[in-house]
Amino acid sequence: MSSTIARRLDRIRSTLPPSVRLIAVTKQVSVPLMREAYAAGIRDFGENRIQEADSKYEQLQDLPDITWHGIGHVQSNKAKRAVELFDWIHSCDSLKLARRLNRLAGELSRSPQVCLQVKLLPDPNKYGWSVEQLWQDLPELDRCEHLQIKGLMAIAPLGLDEGETATLFARAAQLARDIGQQPWQRLQMTELSMGMSGDYALAVGQGATMVRLGRILFGERS
Ligand SMILES: *Cc1c(COP(=O)(O)O)cnc(C)c1O
Repeated sequence: MSSTIARRLDRIRSTLPPSVRLIAVTKQVSVPLMREAYAAGIRDFGENRIQEADSKYEQLQDLPDITWHGIGHVQSNKAKRAVELFDWIHSCDSLKLARRLNRLAGELSRSPQVCLQVKLLPDPNKYGWSVEQLWQDLPELDRCEHLQIKGLMAIAPLGLDEGETATLFARAAQLARDIGQQPWQRLQMTELSMGMSGDYALAVGQGATMVRLGRILFGERS
């Protein structure tokens, strides 16, 4: 009999275009459940806290083809471990952090793939660039030679209705197109990390290339 996670995954995948990367968000999810997700075919795991990611990374060393995604705010003192652990950092949310990640990546001979987190509406709980600040910082971001900047990440604030949420995701997609049209040296804008359990269908409708799903795969967190 297939596991609950496998059945949930099948149902979600049947609604996603094959090109959309499904990231299983495993914050507060146990290592045995992560193994079950792996057995069901998940290879992309997202964690928002470095300490938790670190411990799980060590415990899952026998599964070498996992791609690790950092999706939470990276504190300065955790940036080194983030660069060591994560293949992708979705939550690069300031120039200061980008500079630090770039320097550490150089020192560690790593080149993480990075999304720039944008805040398109005021949201006291969310980090991220304002649109104006991002445009100002892009020239220097383009010179971060140890980072592979691939696109944008956006989170819809709580309390928006479906129309407002879709509009927010559409604005993120438009911003990525506008940025992508400029002649950068290395910065790319092909990825859009947006959509969580409650709004991923809306995000995919607006062009998300990566969705970050927790509760819909693993059940409610305690
Ligand atoms: C927790 C989290 C998710 C997943 O949220 P769910 O509602 O459980 O799908 C996605 N992205 C980020 C940044 C998160 O912190």
